[in-house]
Amino acid sequence: MNILLEPVSFMVVAIISGAIAGSFLSMVVHRLPLIMRQQWKRECREFLELEGKEASGASEISLSAPRSHCPLCNHQLRLVDNIPVIGFLLNRGHCNHCNHPIGWRYLTLELLGITVAITATLHFGPSSSAVASMWFGWILLALLFIDLEHRLLPDQLTYILLWSGLIINQWGLFTTPSGALFGAAAGYLVLWSIFHLYKMVTGREGMGGGDLKLLAALGAWCGWTLLPQILLVASLCGLLVTVPWILLKKESSYPLLLTAIPFGPFLAVAGWIALLWPTLLDIMLWGR
Ligand SMILES: [Zn+2]
Repeated sequence: MNILLEPVSFMVVAIISGAIAGSFLSMVVHRLPLIMRQQWKRECREFLELEGKEASGASEISLSAPRSHCPLCNHQLRLVDNIPVIGFLLNRGHCNHCNHPIGWRYLTLELLGITVAITATLHFGPSSSAVASMWFGWILLALLFIDLEHRLLPDQLTYILLWSGLIINQWGLFTTPSGALFGAAAGYLVLWSIFHLYKMVTGREGMGGGDLKLLAALGAWCGWTLLPQILLVASLCGLLVTVPWILLKKESSYPLLLTAIPFGPFLAVAGWIALLWPTLLDIMLWGR
């Protein structure tokens, strides 16, 4: 028997992978927005034909370079500092060179990466569904954090999620191949219609284009039948968080609910719930 399919060894591998994925994600969450900004600046420069005057100088950021370092003193991390969770605990959350506190985001993402792995394993058992849903959950985590911090849902991540969902469901892992295809198309079109209706009525843009692509990706993973559940759960979570937030901040109600807080994080959470608990809407509505 394949040792990887033993429940215990599968769980151990899942937890280690979750920690590594979480640590990689915190790097993605930190660097991807910087890479995008760098790209936009370069495109603007090229467009304005200023290339050459000030193009050189700043070193390029990518996912692999520069090596992980303290953002304050630029001290490069030791190998042991790069170990997820352990590195953070060893240094008690501070740079071991200049004592600058390490952001909460690193530990949170590492722990959430592990949580996703454990939840997927407990839910699906040692199986390809468990591995696929971990992939799904980890990318959603990165999207959630980037949207919270930067109000961005990078195409690089939403497209990976969309294509991988369409491919994985060719084997009918979570829905049928046609369910995934219609899910992707309908997910995009539903939000596209809401987006344009909202703009027609209020003259404002209620959400970013990234939300459309994210719901398309969720449709590709969960199938079109789960889109109502995803939208309902995301909106309910959104209301639960947004209303107290607006009341506390005493902001005027006009930057309406949709514009006050990014919608992406709620879609991400609702997508994860839909993949694992596809009958939640039935339970909410009819108690079964
Ligand atoms: Zn430092």
